[in-house]
Amino acid sequence: MAMTRDDVIKALSAVTIDESGTTLPASGRLSQVVVDPTNRVMFSILIDPSEATRFEPIRRKAEGAVLAMAGVSGVFASLTSERGPNQPAPAPARPPSPGQAAGPRTGPALPGVRHIVAVASGKGGVGKSTTACNLALALSAQGLKVGLLDADIYGPSVPKLFGLSGKPKVIEERLLAPMDGYGIKVMSIGFLIEPETAMIWRGPMVQSAITQMLREVAWGELDILVVDMPPGTGDAQLTMAQATPLSGAVIVSTPQDLALIDARRGVTMFRKVAVPILGVIENMATFVCPNCGHSSHIFGHGGARAEAARLDVPFLGEIPLNMTIRETSDAGRPVVAVDPDGPQAQIYRTIAAQLWSNLSGGPATRAAPRIVIE
Ligand code: ADP
Repeated sequence: MAMTRDDVIKALSAVTIDESGTTLPASGRLSQVVVDPTNRVMFSILIDPSEATRFEPIRRKAEGAVLAMAGVSGVFASLTSERGPNQPAPAPARPPSPGQAAGPRTGPALPGVRHIVAVASGKGGVGKSTTACNLALALSAQGLKVGLLDADIYGPSVPKLFGLSGKPKVIEERLLAPMDGYGIKVMSIGFLIEPETAMIWRGPMVQSAITQMLREVAWGELDILVVDMPPGTGDAQLTMAQATPLSGAVIVSTPQDLALIDARRGVTMFRKVAVPILGVIENMATFVCPNCGHSSHIFGHGGARAEAARLDVPFLGEIPLNMTIRETSDAGRPVVAVDPDGPQAQIYRTIAAQLWSNLSGGPATRAAPRIVIE
Protein backbone atom coordinates (compact mmCIF):
# COMPACT_ATOMS: atom_id res chain seq x y z
CA MET A 1 0.00 0.00 0.00
CA ALA A 2 1.41 3.40 -0.93
CA MET A 3 1.90 5.71 2.03
CA THR A 4 1.70 9.47 1.76
CA ARG A 5 3.44 12.29 3.57
CA ASP A 6 0.11 13.30 5.08
CA ASP A 7 -0.24 9.82 6.62
CA VAL A 8 3.18 10.25 8.21
CA ILE A 9 2.43 13.76 9.48
CA LYS A 10 -0.81 12.44 10.98
CA ALA A 11 1.10 9.72 12.80
CA LEU A 12 3.63 12.29 14.02
CA SER A 13 0.80 14.38 15.53
CA ALA A 14 0.79 11.85 18.36
CA VAL A 15 4.25 13.06 19.38
CA THR A 16 4.38 16.13 21.60
CA ILE A 17 7.48 18.19 22.24
CA ASP A 18 6.65 20.06 25.46
CA GLU A 19 4.50 19.99 28.55
CA SER A 20 1.80 22.14 26.99
CA GLY A 21 1.27 19.42 24.40
CA THR A 22 2.56 21.10 21.20
CA THR A 23 2.65 18.40 18.57
CA LEU A 24 5.75 17.86 16.46
CA PRO A 25 4.10 18.90 13.16
CA ALA A 26 2.61 22.01 14.85
CA SER A 27 5.94 22.99 16.39
CA GLY A 28 7.40 24.11 13.08
CA ARG A 29 10.44 21.94 13.76
CA LEU A 30 9.61 19.16 11.35
CA SER A 31 11.55 19.23 8.08
CA GLN A 32 10.02 18.15 4.81
CA VAL A 33 8.84 14.54 5.17
CA VAL A 34 9.96 12.24 2.38
CA VAL A 35 8.41 8.86 1.62
CA ASP A 36 10.33 6.89 -0.98
CA PRO A 37 8.77 4.36 -3.38
CA THR A 38 9.62 1.48 -1.03
CA ASN A 39 7.76 3.19 1.86
CA ARG A 40 10.86 4.29 3.66
CA VAL A 41 10.28 7.51 5.55
CA MET A 42 12.80 10.29 6.08
CA PHE A 43 12.56 13.48 8.07
CA SER A 44 14.51 15.58 10.50
CA ILE A 45 13.68 17.64 13.56
CA LEU A 46 15.22 21.09 13.68
CA ILE A 47 16.84 21.94 16.97
CA ASP A 48 19.41 24.23 18.44
CA PRO A 49 22.56 22.22 19.27
CA SER A 50 21.96 22.92 22.99
CA GLU A 51 18.61 21.05 22.77
CA ALA A 52 20.06 17.76 21.52
CA THR A 53 19.67 15.87 24.82
CA ARG A 54 16.09 17.00 25.37
CA PHE A 55 15.09 16.13 21.79
CA GLU A 56 16.71 12.69 21.50
CA PRO A 57 13.78 10.94 23.30
CA ILE A 58 11.35 12.94 21.13
CA ARG A 59 13.22 11.83 18.00
CA ARG A 60 12.95 8.20 19.16
CA LYS A 61 9.24 8.59 19.89
CA ALA A 62 8.72 10.10 16.42
CA GLU A 63 10.61 7.21 14.86
CA GLY A 64 8.51 4.73 16.85
CA ALA A 65 5.26 6.43 15.82
CA VAL A 66 6.16 6.09 12.15
CA LEU A 67 7.45 2.53 12.52
CA ALA A 68 4.10 1.56 14.02
CA MET A 69 2.31 2.58 10.81
CA ALA A 70 1.06 -0.21 8.58
CA GLY A 71 3.22 -0.72 5.50
CA VAL A 72 6.23 1.34 6.54
CA SER A 73 9.50 -0.35 5.63
CA GLY A 74 11.96 1.88 7.48
CA VAL A 75 12.53 5.23 9.15
CA PHE A 76 15.40 7.67 8.84
CA ALA A 77 14.82 10.37 11.51
CA SER A 78 17.46 12.73 12.75
CA LEU A 79 18.04 15.88 14.74
CA THR A 80 19.40 18.75 12.70
CA SER A 81 20.68 22.12 13.66
CA GLU A 82 20.69 24.81 11.03
CA ARG A 83 23.50 26.90 12.41
CA GLY A 84 24.32 29.65 9.96
CA PRO A 85 27.93 29.99 8.85
CA ASN A 86 28.40 33.26 10.73
CA GLN A 87 26.89 32.19 14.00
CA PRO A 88 29.22 31.24 16.82
CA ALA A 89 30.08 27.59 17.07
CA PRO A 90 31.68 25.39 19.69
CA ALA A 91 35.45 25.16 19.60
CA PRO A 92 36.82 22.32 17.42
CA ALA A 93 36.97 19.05 19.31
CA ARG A 94 40.61 18.59 18.40
CA PRO A 95 43.24 21.28 18.49
CA PRO A 96 44.24 22.12 14.89
CA SER A 97 47.56 20.67 13.74
CA PRO A 98 50.39 23.10 13.14
CA GLY A 99 49.83 25.01 9.93
CA GLN A 100 46.08 24.48 9.99
CA ALA A 101 43.75 27.36 10.46
CA ALA A 102 41.78 27.19 13.69
CA GLY A 103 38.18 27.86 12.90
CA PRO A 104 34.49 27.45 13.42
CA ARG A 105 34.10 23.79 12.57
CA THR A 106 30.99 22.55 14.26
CA GLY A 107 31.06 18.78 13.87
CA PRO A 108 32.59 16.88 16.74
CA ALA A 109 35.49 14.62 15.79
CA LEU A 110 34.67 11.10 14.70
CA PRO A 111 36.10 8.63 17.22
CA GLY A 112 38.70 6.34 15.67
CA VAL A 113 39.04 8.40 12.48
CA ARG A 114 42.27 10.38 12.27
CA HIS A 115 41.46 12.59 9.30
CA ILE A 116 38.38 13.39 7.26
CA VAL A 117 39.18 14.91 3.88
CA ALA A 118 36.61 16.34 1.48
CA VAL A 119 37.05 15.96 -2.27
CA ALA A 120 35.10 18.80 -3.82
CA SER A 121 34.56 20.54 -7.14
CA GLY A 122 32.99 23.82 -8.13
CA LYS A 123 30.72 22.07 -10.63
CA GLY A 124 29.66 18.59 -11.73
CA GLY A 125 31.29 16.43 -14.40
CA VAL A 126 34.92 17.35 -13.74
CA GLY A 127 35.78 13.83 -12.53
CA LYS A 128 35.47 14.49 -8.79
CA SER A 129 34.07 11.05 -7.93
CA THR A 130 36.52 9.19 -10.16
CA THR A 131 39.35 11.10 -8.52
CA ALA A 132 38.00 10.53 -4.98
CA CYS A 133 37.73 6.75 -5.55
CA ASN A 134 41.13 6.33 -7.09
CA LEU A 135 42.78 8.54 -4.47
CA ALA A 136 41.14 6.54 -1.68
CA LEU A 137 42.47 3.32 -3.25
CA ALA A 138 45.92 4.86 -3.73
CA LEU A 139 46.00 5.90 -0.06
CA SER A 140 45.04 2.34 0.86
CA ALA A 141 47.85 0.99 -1.36
CA GLN A 142 50.22 3.03 0.85
CA GLY A 143 49.20 0.90 3.80
CA LEU A 144 46.74 3.39 5.27
CA LYS A 145 43.33 2.38 6.63
CA VAL A 146 40.88 4.14 4.37
CA GLY A 147 37.14 4.79 4.21
CA LEU A 148 35.18 6.46 1.43
CA LEU A 149 31.93 8.27 2.11
CA ASP A 150 29.89 9.19 -0.93
CA ALA A 151 28.12 12.36 0.19
CA ASP A 152 27.16 13.32 -3.35
CA ILE A 153 23.56 13.06 -2.32
CA TYR A 154 22.13 14.33 -5.60
CA GLY A 155 24.11 11.92 -7.77
CA PRO A 156 25.77 9.16 -5.80
CA SER A 157 28.21 7.44 -8.14
CA VAL A 158 30.45 5.51 -5.76
CA PRO A 159 28.32 2.28 -5.88
CA LYS A 160 28.76 2.26 -9.67
CA LEU A 161 32.44 3.17 -9.57
CA PHE A 162 33.12 0.25 -7.21
CA GLY A 163 30.64 -2.11 -8.86
CA LEU A 164 28.80 -2.46 -5.53
CA SER A 165 25.11 -3.13 -5.07
CA GLY A 166 22.81 -4.36 -2.33
CA LYS A 167 22.08 -2.92 1.06
CA PRO A 168 24.59 -2.47 3.88
CA LYS A 169 24.05 -4.79 6.86
CA VAL A 170 22.55 -3.40 10.04
CA ILE A 171 24.94 -4.45 12.82
CA GLU A 172 22.92 -3.16 15.73
CA GLU A 173 20.27 -0.54 16.23
CA ARG A 174 21.25 2.59 14.29
CA LEU A 175 24.60 1.21 13.17
CA LEU A 176 25.35 0.15 9.60
CA ALA A 177 28.32 -1.88 8.39
CA PRO A 178 30.20 -0.17 5.54
CA MET A 179 30.55 -2.14 2.30
CA ASP A 180 33.91 -3.45 1.15
CA GLY A 181 35.25 -1.92 -2.06
CA TYR A 182 38.63 -3.38 -3.01
CA GLY A 183 39.76 -3.32 0.63
CA ILE A 184 38.41 0.06 1.62
CA LYS A 185 35.28 0.77 3.65
CA VAL A 186 32.61 2.34 1.50
CA MET A 187 29.29 3.99 2.33
CA SER A 188 27.00 5.79 -0.07
CA ILE A 189 23.55 7.29 0.15
CA GLY A 190 23.05 5.30 -3.07
CA PHE A 191 23.00 2.08 -0.98
CA LEU A 192 20.25 3.44 1.24
CA ILE A 193 17.66 5.15 -0.94
CA GLU A 194 16.30 5.14 -4.45
CA PRO A 195 18.33 7.48 -6.66
CA GLU A 196 15.38 9.80 -7.35
CA THR A 197 14.49 10.34 -3.70
CA ALA A 198 17.37 12.59 -2.70
CA MET A 199 16.77 14.93 -5.61
CA ILE A 200 13.97 16.66 -3.74
CA TRP A 201 15.82 17.03 -0.47
CA ARG A 202 16.55 20.45 0.89
CA GLY A 203 19.56 21.63 2.92
CA PRO A 204 18.69 20.31 6.39
CA MET A 205 17.69 16.89 5.03
CA VAL A 206 20.91 16.62 3.08
CA GLN A 207 22.95 17.59 6.09
CA SER A 208 21.20 15.18 8.41
CA ALA A 209 21.56 12.29 5.96
CA ILE A 210 25.27 12.99 5.71
CA THR A 211 25.69 13.38 9.45
CA GLN A 212 23.97 10.03 9.84
CA MET A 213 26.29 8.37 7.34
CA LEU A 214 29.26 9.83 9.19
CA ARG A 215 28.16 8.87 12.68
CA GLU A 216 25.95 5.81 12.28
CA VAL A 217 28.30 3.73 10.19
CA ALA A 218 30.78 1.40 11.87
CA TRP A 219 33.87 2.96 10.29
CA GLY A 220 36.16 1.52 12.96
CA GLU A 221 39.74 2.73 13.07
CA LEU A 222 40.65 4.78 9.99
CA ASP A 223 43.69 6.84 9.07
CA ILE A 224 41.63 8.76 6.58
CA LEU A 225 38.01 9.02 5.53
CA VAL A 226 37.67 10.48 2.04
CA VAL A 227 34.36 12.29 1.50
CA ASP A 228 33.10 12.65 -2.06
CA MET A 229 31.20 15.94 -1.68
CA PRO A 230 28.19 17.06 -3.69
CA PRO A 231 29.45 19.23 -6.59
CA GLY A 232 29.12 22.99 -6.35
CA THR A 233 29.46 25.64 -3.70
CA GLY A 234 25.88 26.38 -2.68
CA ASP A 235 24.38 26.51 0.79
CA ALA A 236 24.09 22.73 1.12
CA GLN A 237 27.81 22.31 0.45
CA LEU A 238 28.74 25.15 2.77
CA THR A 239 26.65 23.77 5.62
CA MET A 240 28.15 20.35 5.08
CA ALA A 241 31.69 21.65 5.00
CA GLN A 242 30.97 23.34 8.28
CA ALA A 243 29.15 20.50 9.99
CA THR A 244 31.75 17.85 9.15
CA PRO A 245 34.93 17.76 11.23
CA LEU A 246 37.18 18.10 8.17
CA SER A 247 40.96 18.07 8.39
CA GLY A 248 41.12 19.57 4.93
CA ALA A 249 39.76 19.68 1.41
CA VAL A 250 40.96 18.80 -2.07
CA ILE A 251 39.54 20.64 -5.08
CA VAL A 252 39.26 18.86 -8.42
CA SER A 253 39.14 21.04 -11.52
CA THR A 254 39.52 20.64 -15.26
CA PRO A 255 41.83 23.08 -17.03
CA GLN A 256 38.96 24.97 -18.61
CA ASP A 257 38.56 28.58 -17.58
CA LEU A 258 35.01 28.08 -16.46
CA ALA A 259 35.88 25.15 -14.23
CA LEU A 260 38.70 27.18 -12.75
CA ILE A 261 36.35 29.98 -11.78
CA ASP A 262 34.22 27.34 -10.08
CA ALA A 263 37.30 25.88 -8.40
CA ARG A 264 38.11 29.34 -7.05
CA ARG A 265 34.64 29.45 -5.52
CA GLY A 266 35.40 26.08 -3.89
CA VAL A 267 38.57 27.46 -2.33
CA THR A 268 36.66 30.50 -1.06
CA MET A 269 33.93 28.31 0.40
CA PHE A 270 36.33 26.17 2.44
CA ARG A 271 38.24 29.24 3.57
CA LYS A 272 35.00 30.76 4.85
CA VAL A 273 34.60 27.84 7.24
CA ALA A 274 38.33 27.68 8.01
CA VAL A 275 38.91 24.25 6.43
CA PRO A 276 42.50 24.07 5.13
CA ILE A 277 42.88 23.46 1.39
CA LEU A 278 45.21 20.49 0.98
CA GLY A 279 45.53 21.11 -2.73
CA VAL A 280 44.08 21.45 -6.19
CA ILE A 281 44.12 18.57 -8.69
CA GLU A 282 43.89 19.21 -12.41
CA ASN A 283 41.83 16.42 -13.98
CA MET A 284 41.60 15.68 -17.70
CA ALA A 285 44.76 17.74 -18.06
CA THR A 286 46.25 16.24 -21.22
CA PHE A 287 45.12 13.74 -23.79
CA VAL A 288 47.70 11.14 -24.71
CA CYS A 289 46.81 9.52 -28.02
CA PRO A 290 46.64 5.76 -27.45
CA ASN A 291 47.86 5.14 -31.03
CA CYS A 292 50.77 7.51 -31.47
CA GLY A 293 51.53 8.60 -27.90
CA HIS A 294 51.28 12.28 -28.80
CA SER A 295 49.91 14.40 -26.00
CA SER A 296 47.44 17.20 -26.69
CA HIS A 297 46.19 19.81 -24.27
CA ILE A 298 42.57 19.66 -25.32
CA PHE A 299 41.27 22.00 -22.60
CA GLY A 300 44.38 24.17 -22.37
CA HIS A 301 47.09 23.40 -19.88
CA GLY A 302 48.64 24.60 -16.65
CA GLY A 303 45.64 26.72 -15.67
CA ALA A 304 44.98 24.89 -12.42
CA ARG A 305 48.64 25.01 -11.38
CA ALA A 306 48.78 28.76 -12.06
CA GLU A 307 45.48 29.31 -10.30
CA ALA A 308 46.65 27.30 -7.27
CA ALA A 309 49.75 29.49 -7.05
CA ARG A 310 47.64 32.61 -7.35
CA LEU A 311 45.32 31.44 -4.58
CA ASP A 312 48.29 30.34 -2.49
CA VAL A 313 47.14 26.73 -2.17
CA PRO A 314 49.22 23.62 -2.94
CA PHE A 315 49.01 22.06 -6.41
CA LEU A 316 48.76 18.28 -6.04
CA GLY A 317 49.18 17.17 -9.65
CA GLU A 318 47.65 16.49 -13.03
CA ILE A 319 45.62 13.51 -14.17
CA PRO A 320 45.43 12.99 -17.93
CA LEU A 321 42.23 12.50 -19.90
CA ASN A 322 42.61 8.81 -20.42
CA MET A 323 40.48 6.07 -21.94
CA THR A 324 41.53 3.46 -19.36
CA ILE A 325 40.47 5.75 -16.50
CA ARG A 326 37.06 6.27 -18.08
CA GLU A 327 36.49 2.64 -19.04
CA THR A 328 37.55 1.24 -15.67
CA SER A 329 35.44 3.77 -13.70
CA ASP A 330 32.41 3.15 -15.82
CA ALA A 331 32.87 -0.63 -15.48
CA GLY A 332 33.00 -0.51 -11.68
CA ARG A 333 36.66 -1.53 -11.59
CA PRO A 334 38.69 1.54 -10.58
CA VAL A 335 42.07 1.67 -12.30
CA VAL A 336 44.12 1.88 -9.10
CA ALA A 337 42.50 -1.36 -7.88
CA VAL A 338 42.67 -3.36 -11.09
CA ASP A 339 46.02 -2.18 -12.45
CA PRO A 340 47.87 -1.00 -9.34
CA ASP A 341 51.25 -0.83 -11.05
CA GLY A 342 50.06 0.72 -14.30
CA PRO A 343 50.86 4.28 -15.39
CA GLN A 344 47.47 5.72 -14.34
CA ALA A 345 47.63 4.18 -10.87
CA GLN A 346 51.12 5.62 -10.51
CA ILE A 347 49.75 9.13 -11.08
CA TYR A 348 47.07 8.71 -8.42
CA ARG A 349 49.61 7.21 -6.03
CA THR A 350 51.98 10.15 -6.41
CA ILE A 351 49.13 12.58 -5.74
CA ALA A 352 47.92 10.50 -2.78
CA ALA A 353 51.41 10.50 -1.25
CA GLN A 354 51.61 14.28 -1.61
CA LEU A 355 48.12 14.66 -0.15
CA TRP A 356 48.98 12.54 2.87
CA SER A 357 52.16 14.42 3.43
CA ASN A 358 50.32 17.79 3.25
CA LEU A 359 47.83 16.37 5.73
CA SER A 360 50.11 14.76 8.25
CA GLY A 361 53.13 16.97 7.79
CA GLY A 362 55.32 13.98 7.02
CA PRO A 363 55.87 11.17 4.53
CA ALA A 364 53.19 8.53 4.03
CA THR A 365 52.97 6.16 6.94
CA ARG A 366 52.96 2.52 6.12
CA ALA A 367 51.51 -0.21 8.24
CA ALA A 368 54.12 -1.15 10.84
CA PRO A 369 56.23 -4.08 9.67
CA ARG A 370 55.31 -7.36 11.32
CA ILE A 371 58.16 -9.28 12.81
CA VAL A 372 57.76 -12.98 12.23
CA ILE A 373 59.83 -15.25 14.44
CA GLU A 374 60.29 -18.68 12.94
P1 ADP B 1 31.92 14.19 -11.20
O1 ADP B 1 32.01 13.39 -9.95
O2 ADP B 1 32.78 15.42 -11.15
O3 ADP B 1 30.55 14.50 -11.67
P2 ADP B 1 32.79 11.75 -12.52
O4 ADP B 1 33.91 11.29 -11.67
O5 ADP B 1 31.48 11.07 -12.39
O6 ADP B 1 32.60 13.33 -12.37
O7 ADP B 1 33.32 11.71 -14.01
C1 ADP B 1 32.52 12.08 -15.13
C2 ADP B 1 32.92 11.22 -16.32
O8 ADP B 1 34.26 11.53 -16.69
C3 ADP B 1 32.89 9.72 -16.05
O9 ADP B 1 32.42 9.06 -17.19
C4 ADP B 1 34.34 9.36 -15.79
O10 ADP B 1 34.64 8.02 -16.16
C5 ADP B 1 35.05 10.34 -16.69
N1 ADP B 1 36.39 10.72 -16.20
C6 ADP B 1 36.73 11.27 -15.02
N2 ADP B 1 38.05 11.50 -14.95
C7 ADP B 1 38.58 11.08 -16.13
C8 ADP B 1 39.90 11.04 -16.70
N3 ADP B 1 40.95 11.52 -16.04
N4 ADP B 1 40.03 10.51 -17.93
C9 ADP B 1 38.96 10.05 -18.62
N5 ADP B 1 37.72 10.06 -18.17
C10 ADP B 1 37.52 10.58 -16.94
